[in-house]
Amino acid sequence: MSHAFYLDIDRCTGCFACAVACMDQNDLEIGAEPTAWRQVFTVETGSGPSARLRYVSLACMHCEDAPCLMACPTGAIAREAGTRVVRVDADLCIGCHSCSIACPFGVPRFGEDGTMQKCDLCSVRLEHGLEPACVRVCPSKALRQGSPNVLGSDVEKKAAGRLAAGS
Ligand code: SF4
Ligand code: SF4
Ligand code: SF4
Repeated sequence: MSHAFYLDIDRCTGCFACAVACMDQNDLEIGAEPTAWRQVFTVETGSGPSARLRYVSLACMHCEDAPCLMACPTGAIAREAGTRVVRVDADLCIGCHSCSIACPFGVPRFGEDGTMQKCDLCSVRLEHGLEPACVRVCPSKALRQGSPNVLGSDVEKKAAGRLAAGS
């Protein structure tokens, strides 16, 4: 089954639980911000009385035509058949940062050994029928993971509801 992420920014409260859960799941050092595989960004929207803060939780999007994959000169990045998860093979990575330059979302991180690392969609958890750690802890259910068809249909329904409500 192929997998995708969906973030409902109307629900995200910027609590950082997803980012902390990811660091815990992947034994990343809390507080070492550049190594975080999931980050939560604060965005200001609107102006005057309608100004408000929005929060965007972002990790690897496992892009369909992944620019990082195309930029990697060694074939260290590959898309897994079936799940469509974009993976990195540390043994093939030479730490050239080409993927980092190519990724439009600033996702690739580099560990102490200089090789690229990023979200693998919690593949081990998925293999055991568990949700990704970041999705499991999200208290407002802003973050979801599932098949692209189901998530895409939910996004369309939400957009249709907004249109109907005139917002
Ligand atoms: S690292 Fe960036 S370009 Fe590559 S799949 Fe993830 S989001 Fe897409
Ligand atoms: S840093 Fe590693 S994964 Fe990224 S493009 Fe270079 S060899 Fe490929
Ligand atoms: S799916 Fe797993 S590795 Fe990816 S951002 Fe969520 S917790 Fe981190």
